[in-house]
Amino acid sequence: SESDTTDAAGSAELRTPIVAVLGHVDHGKTSLLDEVRGSAVTAGEAGAITQHIGATAVPLSTISDIAGNLVDPADFDLPGLLFIDTPGHHSFSTLRSRGGALADIAILVVDVNDGFQPQTHEALDILKRTQTPFIVAANKIDTVPGWNPNPDTPVQATLEAQSDRAENRLNEQLYEIIGQLSEEGFSADMYWRVQNFRENIGVVPVSAETGEGIPDLLTVLMGLSQRYLKSEMSIDTSGPGVGTVLEVKDERGFGTTLDIVLYDGVLRDDDTVVVGGKNDPIVTDVRALLQPRPLAEIRTESQFEQVESVRAAAGIKIAAPDLDDAMAGAPVRVVRGRDLETVTAEVRAELADIEVVTEEQG
Ligand code: GDP
Repeated sequence: SESDTTDAAGSAELRTPIVAVLGHVDHGKTSLLDEVRGSAVTAGEAGAITQHIGATAVPLSTISDIAGNLVDPADFDLPGLLFIDTPGHHSFSTLRSRGGALADIAILVVDVNDGFQPQTHEALDILKRTQTPFIVAANKIDTVPGWNPNPDTPVQATLEAQSDRAENRLNEQLYEIIGQLSEEGFSADMYWRVQNFRENIGVVPVSAETGEGIPDLLTVLMGLSQRYLKSEMSIDTSGPGVGTVLEVKDERGFGTTLDIVLYDGVLRDDDTVVVGGKNDPIVTDVRALLQPRPLAEIRTESQFEQVESVRAAAGIKIAAPDLDDAMAGAPVRVVRGRDLETVTAEVRAELADIEVVTEEQG
């Protein structure tokens, strides 16, 4: 479960990979995230998506419901995927962890009609520099002339239902994208022909409008994570939490709060944390950990519900004193049982690293 109290007997567990969505404006980043959330809700019963602060958790059981035959849950031991809700490469490049990207994996969204655009190139540069594994979502396949939509179906099933003309037209556009990736130094192919997703970029044709290809997209993300990221997903479930600030926000009744993504360990509601600030690192005691309340309950209750603890990976809001000088993109570290000076020095070092990156990007 998302909120869970763990005792001191250290145990290792696999966390959810953190997924970011990048791409040129209007190519469909927001729509794609909405569609993933929407299809998870429709898939219903077995699993359920959980709305976190700033992120959406889609458990393996839900992915398997959406993906049908494409996913056998027995092949996976990673618990699902955590999508960062704010798309775009600006948020991607300011959100870092230990000098790398906060996201473990990315989706580069490219409009099949529009192809590569300036922000597509920028996004690719960032993915290269941070060495983030990614797949390409070739979006808006439903806009190909003559397209016959088959809502929520896997790509190959919908391709079989297309006229030769529509299929050929889509293929031309997809090969255009594959060619553009190649010019950028990435060997790429249709995802079903890719054997090694570290060496070749998988292109997944999708429509954020009709849901076509969404089963494939989730399957490929899950498979790529399981195959290539598993060793990095091991967390100590009693270890002190480590995260990155998404946003510093004033919240009625709570004052200045932090929306963070926790990517390691556990954060508890009685922890002392060190947060990167405009001047010195801020040392403060957590007052409350807040999650969004389900929509249905908001009419009668406040917008948030308090939880006692959260385990990585998760999006969570921290209410605590003295957060006015905290910065988006800054590190957050739980002190719990460690020397405060050591933790503060770690935060200071990470901050220095972030500032260097910001300057480089000009
Ligand atoms: P963003 O700027 O990358 O977040 O792009 P949006 O998600 O806001 O999408 C831009 C526009 O394209 C909106 O009008 C969407 O409704 C539309 N759009 C996005 N994905 C699709 C798609 O797969 N098919 C169609 N027909 N329209 C789409």
